[in-house]
Amino acid sequence: MSLGEFDLIAKYFTRPQAPSGATVLGVGDDCALLQPTAGRQWAVSSDMLVEGRHFLSTVAPERLGHKALAVNLSDLAACGADPVACTLALALPRVDEAFLAGLSQGFFALADAHGIALVGGDTTAGPLNLCITVFGELPAGQALRRDGARVGDALWVSHPVGGGIGDARLALEVFRGTLALPGEAFERVRRAMELPQPRVALGRALRGLATAAIDVSDGLAGDLGHILRRSGVAAVIDVDALPVSPDLASQPLAVQRAYALAGGDDYELLFTAPADADGAVRAAAEAANSTNPGGPAVAVRRIGRIEAADPSAPALRLLDGAGRPLALALRGFDHFATP
Ligand code: ADP
Ligand code: MG
Repeated sequence: MSLGEFDLIAKYFTRPQAPSGATVLGVGDDCALLQPTAGRQWAVSSDMLVEGRHFLSTVAPERLGHKALAVNLSDLAACGADPVACTLALALPRVDEAFLAGLSQGFFALADAHGIALVGGDTTAGPLNLCITVFGELPAGQALRRDGARVGDALWVSHPVGGGIGDARLALEVFRGTLALPGEAFERVRRAMELPQPRVALGRALRGLATAAIDVSDGLAGDLGHILRRSGVAAVIDVDALPVSPDLASQPLAVQRAYALAGGDDYELLFTAPADADGAVRAAAEAANSTNPGGPAVAVRRIGRIEAADPSAPALRLLDGAGRPLALALRGFDHFATP
């Protein structure tokens, strides 16, 4: 017996109590009703996940539910917004109750960790596809944006404590068969790919401190390019300062650098802050961890600085730890196929 559309919504995507006080009316009517807080602005973002393009069919449904919401929360984090509510539009090839139970479990576990309410959505038959829209709030005028980087600012990236960026790409390449890892290392990098941790608490702690921010979804160098273009500046990165996990550090140096700079799927925050604010930035990371006890711990690393734009030169310069220029063209990392 197959569950009908409305029974399915009731069973897997409706909960008796919304955790958010902003929800006046949740799932079940033509619209959800949200009550804005006086003096605050909405931050709104959508991200769609398509099977084969954004996730592999091998992913466990719990992890898919987590990741679909995580990549959306990551956009709120990059703006410094507090999560409030979200909608979920779902296309399903068939009604598979084990899949739906896992998906909703992974989704709601992360939703509860961030106090975001599912207030509506759409459910239809079709090739597996999840589209989430998130609504966050922040004090008017305080959003972290891409256009605020200033010459002389320091460039920072967040990373897991004891870990780095680029691990999700490492996992993807194991799935693709271009490289191999021992079983335990594979499970670790697979977690990085399938269970990204949105840096919501860090984004909030960086309000009023970071001058610009973006979340790293398409690769650090490419996503930095968005900040540079929007802010009208250039940047230099000390490539040897990029945080790299022990698993990525076991790879050849060229692979480490390529995956850290352009791996993609990292969902860390890349941000700029005044050059004399290192102590405040580190304190923001500590504050993020203390407001998120038991949650995944985050660290921040200073990896470069913002420079004046020179129209005749590339906007991004890469140096090694000894200050020597690295001949790695930014463009070459956009969609490179082999390490
Ligand atoms: P309508 O036809 O008016 O668009 P639907 O019949 O599609 O409404 O949906 C019924 C209710 O269930 C609506 O409140 C809608 O927001 C909600 N809903 C539908 N699919 C989902 C889902 N996957 N997750 C959460 N809420 C959903
Ligand atoms: Mg509908």
